[in-house]
Parts: sequence; structure tokens; C-alpha cells
Amino acid sequence: MITVVGSYNTDTILKLERFPVPGETVFVQGKLISHGGKGSNQAVSAARLGANVSLVAAVGNDERGTIALKFLQQEKVDTSCVKVKEAQTGSAYILLNGQGETMIIVDRGANYELVAEDLYQCLRGDVLLTQLEIREEVVRFALKEFNGLRILNPAPAELRSLDILENVDILTPNEIEFKEISNSDDMLYGAEVLLKRVKKAIVVTLGENGSVIFTKHKSVRIPTIKVRAVDTTGAGDVFNAALALFLERGYDLEQAAENANIIASISVTSYGALGPKWEEVKELLQEK
Ligand code: ADP
Repeated sequence: MITVVGSYNTDTILKLERFPVPGETVFVQGKLISHGGKGSNQAVSAARLGANVSLVAAVGNDERGTIALKFLQQEKVDTSCVKVKEAQTGSAYILLNGQGETMIIVDRGANYELVAEDLYQCLRGDVLLTQLEIREEVVRFALKEFNGLRILNPAPAELRSLDILENVDILTPNEIEFKEISNSDDMLYGAEVLLKRVKKAIVVTLGENGSVIFTKHKSVRIPTIKVRAVDTTGAGDVFNAALALFLERGYDLEQAAENANIIASISVTSYGALGPKWEEVKELLQEK
């Protein structure tokens, strides 16, 4: 079983011709509301691939919280550890301009009400997957207490202290997060610094260039397939979900990253942050 400890947000995507400047009013050209939050995205993407997943998260006691629970259950995610708080369900407002650039505003709401005590009897399973959209002390607690393989996707890359990495087996930043956390533009040097703390490996995702794995002994580039990308939102979430799934199934890290690349690359060929179903990818994975 995979346990995901993380966030749930209702995403509101506002399409604009261009971003407003301070004091200016602009009109929305299109609006889309969808399920989001890295915790939820990763849990649902892993469940779609056939994993047995439990999400540990918090939603509000509002209508959006009820809708969130129903959605997660429909996606076959175990919600017995999704807490309902006296708060509003988290929201993210994503401004998207004509150039495909985004500006994101997050109202953490119930996500910020999730506390370490809520994790009681919820840290089960073989693989833990967590991110940084909830309180850092909750992530810290989960990593410390979990008995199994611990993956931290350090997004967004805001860490009060790097000590947290001492309870991480695999760290999975994208290129930007990697630079921020390692405080270095030199990847080899940055990896060396972080591997003094991270237990096993760092897997850096590189967009269309796939990913690279750093361990204390070597670094390995894992290329991905060439695709026509239409929406890269959530590519990292799909990658992390797939990586956790293959590691749980006993694949070694290189094989798991290779498969996760392929699945994440397929996910960018269609709209939305969630990944494909197992049936949609199994043939591609078997072909290689
Ligand atoms: P994030 O979404 O966190 O910024 P990345 O952009 O590094 O993360 O993407 C995560 C993974 O998704 C990559 O390692 C790769 O496998 C896949 N991916 C992302 N963008 C593309 C793309 N344009 N073409 C092919 N694969 C992609």
C-alpha cells in the first residue's frame, strides 16, 4: 500500500489574455474548476495505475469538502484518513495568460489545519509519498514515524531546515526545486551536498529531458519518450505517483524512474493534472 500525506485543493483556472498590472481590471476569457493539490493529484494518479492508496489530508466542512471526498472515493483512493476540519477546503487560483504562463495564488484553508495528531494510525503501508503543501512539521512527523520507503517531493521548495532530509529515502525535486534546495546551480555539487542527508537517492525531473538519478556512487540519466505536449500541469505529480507505484512493486530505482518518465510523458499529451489509467499505458511499458 502507498500512503500519500498531502494537500487537497479546489483549483480554479482563469484564462486571461494577459495578467493584470497593479490597479488594473481584466476580464476572464475562460474558467475551469478542477480537483487539485499535490497530495490529491499524486494519490489519484497512483490509484489510476492500480495502486492501493490511502490519502492522509484535510478538507473543510463545506460543500467542496464533500465533493472532494466523493471524487477521491470514485477514484478508488482510501479516504479513511482524510479529516474534515472546521475550515474551508483549500483553494488554488491559477491565472493562465495567452503565452501559457501561470501565476498561482493558494488559500491553504483546511490543508493548514492538518496536524501531527491527525496522522495517528494513518502511517501504514510500504511506501510514503509526501510534499510540502501542508505544514512542514506534519511532513517532518510523517517522515520520522513512517516504517517503510519514504519519498519526499519537495514542492513547493520551501524548507525551514534541511534536517528534514535525514528521514527521506528518495528526494524528487524538479530542476527548479533542486536548485533552490541545494542552493547551487551545479547539479553534481548540489547532489553531493544533499546526499549527505538524503538516505538513498535524489531523482531530479527534467521536463522533456526525462530525469536523472543521483546516488552516493553514481549518477544515471533516464531519458523519456518524445511526445507532443499540450498541458504539462501535474507532470511531476504523475511522475511521483508512478515512481512510488513501481518501487512498491519491487522494481529497482532506475526501472521505476524509466517507467515513471514514460507515464508522466503520456500524461502531458492530454489536458489536466491527473495521470493515465494502467490500461492506457501497459502496452507502451511492455513494448520497451
Ligand atoms: P514538474 O511538473 O514538477 O515541473 P517536470 O516538468 O520535470 O516536473 O516533469 C516531470 C516529468 O514529466 C518529467 O521527468 C518527464 O518524464 C515528464 N514530462 C514533463 N514535460 C514533458 C515534455 N514536454 N515531454 C515529455 N515528457 C515530459
